[in-house]
Amino acid sequence: MPSPSTVIAGGGVIGLSLALELQKRGRAVTVLERHHCGDVTHGAATPASAGILGVDDPGHPAQMQELCSYSYALYPEFLARLAELSGRAVPFDHTHLLEAFADCAAEDDRERGELLNAEQLRELEPELIPGDAHWYRREEPSLDPRLLCAALLAACRAAGVDVRENEPVMSLTFGANEVSLHTPHAVYVAEQFCLAAGAWSGGLLGAQDFAPLVPTVPRRGQILCLQLPQHPIRHAVRPIGCYLVPRATNLLIGSTVEFAGFEVATQPEVIDSLQAAIAQSYPALASVQRLDQWAGLRPGTPDDLPILGALPQPGCFVSTGHFRNGILLAPGSAQVMADLMDSREPAVSLEAFAPARFSADG
Ligand SMILES: Cc1cc2nc3c(=O)[nH]c(=O)nc-3n(C[C@H](O)[C@H](O)[C@H](O)COP(=O)(O)OP(=O)(O)OC[C@H]3O[C@@H](n4cnc5c(N)ncnc54)[C@H](O)[C@@H]3O)c2cc1C
Repeated sequence: MPSPSTVIAGGGVIGLSLALELQKRGRAVTVLERHHCGDVTHGAATPASAGILGVDDPGHPAQMQELCSYSYALYPEFLARLAELSGRAVPFDHTHLLEAFADCAAEDDRERGELLNAEQLRELEPELIPGDAHWYRREEPSLDPRLLCAALLAACRAAGVDVRENEPVMSLTFGANEVSLHTPHAVYVAEQFCLAAGAWSGGLLGAQDFAPLVPTVPRRGQILCLQLPQHPIRHAVRPIGCYLVPRATNLLIGSTVEFAGFEVATQPEVIDSLQAAIAQSYPALASVQRLDQWAGLRPGTPDDLPILGALPQPGCFVSTGHFRNGILLAPGSAQVMADLMDSREPAVSLEAFAPARFSADG
């Protein structure tokens, strides 16, 4: 039996990771991307992201922890496959995070990690001014999401996925056994379709009666990119209210989480306040040269959980709403969504993420 033709709307980390997984399973997959994959200028979340794999972040909703752990465990194999297909390595920039908390939990809280004393902290990050906070260290690597996106795109193409950039989906029409995606250039008819257009996902369903099942909300995040300072910074560091991510060639300071509609401009006063906030912990960073700044739109949802599952139309699926964790959750979401689209039982329960939770009768 020939495999069904599959079309994915959205070429961010979620759409491309799913495309690669489906292609591996023998599908003919097309990805339609409105701009260029990895272009930060139009608000896509993936290239704007800080790229922290916050597997044990205490801020996660409890229902998401299993999916976070599952996805994190898939990362080594995922990156190895990308490297094999694309010839591009996506390295971890560091492996551990230092995070400040106002209160002191039990000595070694599993989620917070290992509680550090002043001497340990000084040894790990000599330039860090700890203030009154309690500092913990835990495994939380990060990678550069722009490198990840470029490697994913190259891997998809090498594997035979048809990735079409500058191909915006303008509307969808639903038949008994297929979905038609209308772009300015063509009509793509798919037996299976997955909506993975990030913060724009809900809007793409237009006036369909099941559009309320995908209530994505853009949550803007602004980031400042600084030159690397003279002294080395070996960890990602999260003082209360901001974070710092050191990379091979620069340093990210983030980030806001705002309701600002689809506005993707950065605001000078917000960028100033990010630099001022990090300078309380690293005074030298007050005067380090700025290299860049940008904003991205996280795909938020009313309950801060992703939307992963089947839509009421035959052959229609959705994978979006990854909010603050789409880089972490990409390999896991690709697996569970490919399982669903293959009519297989996913390794992780998707009950908490079902689009049906947003229907009028729950
Ligand atoms: C400032 C910031 C910091 C972050 N930090 C982290 C972090 O440290 N760790 C982490 O795990 N996550 C982080 N995130 C979240 C993460 O970036 C997102 O959850 C993830 O990138 C979502 O991926 P996506 O593919 O769903 O969406 P996107 O990357 O937004 O991709 C959606 C794509 O769909 C395309 N599209 C939209 N409409 C259409 C259409 N009509 N037709 C065709 N294509 C369309 C868009 O152009 C876009 O390329 C951060 C996000 C931001 C903004």
